[in-house]
Amino acid sequence: MDDLIALDRKNIWHPFSPLGVTQDIPTIISAKGVHLYTADGRKIIDAVSSWWVNLHGHCNPVIAKAIADQAHTLEHVIFAGFTHEPAIRLSDNLLSILPSDQQKIFFSDNGSTAVEVALKMAIQYWHNRGVKKTKIIALNGAYHGDTFGSMSVAERGLFTQPFFPYLFDATFIEFPDADNEKEVVAQFEKLIRLGDVAAFIFEPLVQAASGMRMYSPDVLDALISLANKHDVICIADEVFTGFGRTGRNFAIDHLKNKPDIIALSKGITGGFMPLGVTACSQKIIDAFDSSAVEKTFFHGHSYTANPLACAAANASFQLLTEAECYEKIRSIERMHLTFAESITGHRSVEAVRVLGTILAIELKTAEETSYTNPARKRIYPFFLERNILLRPLGNVIYVLPPYVISDEELQLVYTTIREFLHLAQNT
Ligand code: PLP
Repeated sequence: MDDLIALDRKNIWHPFSPLGVTQDIPTIISAKGVHLYTADGRKIIDAVSSWWVNLHGHCNPVIAKAIADQAHTLEHVIFAGFTHEPAIRLSDNLLSILPSDQQKIFFSDNGSTAVEVALKMAIQYWHNRGVKKTKIIALNGAYHGDTFGSMSVAERGLFTQPFFPYLFDATFIEFPDADNEKEVVAQFEKLIRLGDVAAFIFEPLVQAASGMRMYSPDVLDALISLANKHDVICIADEVFTGFGRTGRNFAIDHLKNKPDIIALSKGITGGFMPLGVTACSQKIIDAFDSSAVEKTFFHGHSYTANPLACAAANASFQLLTEAECYEKIRSIERMHLTFAESITGHRSVEAVRVLGTILAIELKTAEETSYTNPARKRIYPFFLERNILLRPLGNVIYVLPPYVISDEELQLVYTTIREFLHLAQNT
């Protein structure tokens, strides 16, 4: 095993990890349910669902079998000019739970590409109609992925700094919080009244990477309503929030007004396979529904609608839509709320937020809340040493478990957080 670790160090460039910092990182040899098993015999609770993708537990047998069966039938085929049953079934499954005005599914292979496709669809929508609308509005603090389009509509900050000169312009409005909702709506209306706004993109109700920051459905409803009035395409980036995370199938299910385009990924395959999906309404389709070559949407990835990924997604869909799954989601939310209440007002806690299966605890620190807040350096090893994977966003600890976590496992995570808070208040 030491040889393997040395090879890893020599050969591999891990994501979001400074190359100059040599750390011992665990080698995972297998996983089951909420547990990751390491080469040196440890059993770690995956309390962040492996970067927010896992829904029904690691190595879920239903999804594993669906992929295995599919692998023996059709592993992959070009998706331009051909089709296959797993993709067709998945499109139908998704459309059956998406808002009723969503009409078509476009496949890609991760969250960033699902967003990239959404942006390109919105931009080309206006181009195909011969209307000069080019501006894109996004929220301060947004994160939409790591490709150039998705970086362009995200917070200009640490993640995107080297690329600033190459990002296209976007207009950012304030993140709506309890104190500024009216001002944000007014700021938005002033911008879109000018008539040159093509699209408004947002992470509905929760900005995940920005520290699990939550905002109210009412203010988002007001923004979408204004966008509809002024003919601005609304893009909901549900890459993180989709598939039950917020307590409903999609975060937009908490809203009265619906977006025109929806980007999905992460939980779509239950955490087994990379897959991205961009859904859109009839309004969008109408601008592309032509035999003219210049109105074609020229976008496609080699692995578009990979049958193995679609088979995984169909199996995950079956599990998600069983009553038992939503009972579990509601139970996690109830437990999160009880725990949140019990630590509200703690000396080390600045704020606690809960929505569905998401629990976020913002720690009080001398430095301001941010991804680079040094508290991260204490939090991550503290939990990992106690066999719990919690990967904080700066000084924000969040718990985002696979839905199959047992009450006892979740209680163990809470108890360990309590222990951390106790130590934190004395340091
Ligand atoms: N959009 C949101 C809201 C996300 O949280 C993420 C990833 O965290 C992405 C897009 C990008 O997804 P991926 O990492 O699969 O490219």
